[in-house]
Amino acid sequence: MFKRIGHKLILTFAGVSAAGLVILVLFYTDQQQKSLFEQNEQMMRRVAHSVIQGLETVMLAGYADIAQDYAANLQNVKDIVDFRISRIDGNQAFLDNETILDVNRRKQEELFEARDEEASHRILAPEDAEFRQAIASMQITRKYTTSESGENFLTFIAPIENKEDCQECHGSSSKVRGVVKITTSLQAVEAAVGSSRQQAYLMAGPFLLLIILATGFMVKRTIVSPIHRVTTAMTSVAAGDLSMHVPVLGRDEISSMAKSFNRMSDQLRSTYDGLAEERDKLTTLILSAHDGMVVTDRKGKIVLTNPSAAEILNKSADDIFTDGFNKLFDDPQIIEYAIEKKDYVELRRDGRVLQILASTIQNQEQAVIGSAALIRDVTTEMKLQQELQHLATTDALTGWFNRRHLDTSLENELIRSKRYGHEMSIIMFDVDHFKQFNDRYGHDMGDRVLQLIAETIKGVIRGLDIPCRYGGEEFVIILPETDYSCAAAVAERVRVAVEQASIDDLSVTISVGLASYPRHPAQTHQQFIEAADKALYEAKAAGRNCLRSAS
Ligand code: GH3
Ligand code: MG
Ligand code: MG
Repeated sequence: MFKRIGHKLILTFAGVSAAGLVILVLFYTDQQQKSLFEQNEQMMRRVAHSVIQGLETVMLAGYADIAQDYAANLQNVKDIVDFRISRIDGNQAFLDNETILDVNRRKQEELFEARDEEASHRILAPEDAEFRQAIASMQITRKYTTSESGENFLTFIAPIENKEDCQECHGSSSKVRGVVKITTSLQAVEAAVGSSRQQAYLMAGPFLLLIILATGFMVKRTIVSPIHRVTTAMTSVAAGDLSMHVPVLGRDEISSMAKSFNRMSDQLRSTYDGLAEERDKLTTLILSAHDGMVVTDRKGKIVLTNPSAAEILNKSADDIFTDGFNKLFDDPQIIEYAIEKKDYVELRRDGRVLQILASTIQNQEQAVIGSAALIRDVTTEMKLQQELQHLATTDALTGWFNRRHLDTSLENELIRSKRYGHEMSIIMFDVDHFKQFNDRYGHDMGDRVLQLIAETIKGVIRGLDIPCRYGGEEFVIILPETDYSCAAAVAERVRVAVEQASIDDLSVTISVGLASYPRHPAQTHQQFIEAADKALYEAKAAGRNCLRSAS
């Protein structure tokens, strides 16, 4: 990637440099071409002037007839493709007798001998622009032309002035006698330009290579290598090595980037160390927690658990990870239910009682990023609670419920009967002449008799009935959903059962009072007990070992 950045930079520099060099070469060669063309033109001008001077000399010396040979010889001059002398009508001079005859006529003598063979050759069209301009301005004109084969030529049209000396023979009707037309090939000039262009390109090539190498070296040294160092360090940081630092060399932007990177790396390390410390604390807490903990990611995959969870769930940690969140328990919906309930859900499993508290974990944007479940084994606590409950509600001597439980149960049963219009009853009984019994057989034997009574009566009442020790040797049995006649039968059964029971051939009797609701209306459970107590008192009064009902 970095190499690519380097390549791109080098390519850009090379492209720009190459374009610059090409423009320079083109500019240079263009200038040179201009200069060569100018030199060529000047040389040609000089040639034209000297030709004209030569002609004038020949003509004034009276050797006009050799002017043609003079012109023909000029054709052999190197680089001169064509050389002609034209009169102002555009016809080549020294081929016909027109001028000879004109001069002889003007001089009125046979000054020049007429040619035997005449010819007429049109060199320039009379309307030719450069030709006309040369005559009118009496200045050399030039034009560039290209042949059909593509060869370029430069043609000069130099006017020959009709000087005073000339006018003697040719008259003064025209300022110009004629023109010299010289055509030169530009091949040599163009070859020179081409060669110079080639040389320029040949020089530009190594120069461009030098620029590329220098740019490459600088790009690598100042950009690619420093960036590479930073990115290598970044890769190491990404892989978890937060100790990475990069050297800060110089003060450029990349150095400032390196500085920022070092600061960021320090910051990350300090944050990471802090987080790692917190994580260690949390892990220690979770691993050593008495409660089982299971944490999942957003997809429900378990990512954390602790030994307590394995112990409570009776699974290995590996199995917990493999089974997943919804298979922690036999019922796959229990976790969902616990999450919805937002409170402890109790689960009984293999004789144990588990409490499950589950919740989703949300981030700051309220998006769910996982779930967590807390699993508590409360079997021992529940047993303890039950024992405490038992102790708090049970009479130690007889195993029946105590007075406190009697009060709360009777109050509840009475409220229920009133609400639903059901009948209910209570039996209250007291051991007859128990004081005497104690006195005769001892208090311990009295206790054993009380236990015998409790045991015996349990065998003749229903499981729904609630037997309670009211106090001393007085007892109350609550008979829910029991009307008067049924209750009377139970009371009689109880009385007879006690009468028939014995311990060490010793036995006692009881007097029984009965109250039924709504037959014996009572506002409160105390009033209800008082009614039964009253009936009991009547049974005592009636001679004991008998049953009386509340009136
Ligand atoms: P009554 O037939 O009129 O009921 O005569 P009673 O002797 O039973 O008279 P009362 O009910 O007043 O006497 C209660 C006696 O019961 C007094 C007490 O010694 C005895 N008692 C009360 N609680 C216990 C107990 O827990 N164990 C023993 N052994 N005796 C108890
Ligand atoms: Mg008593
Ligand atoms: Mg008694």
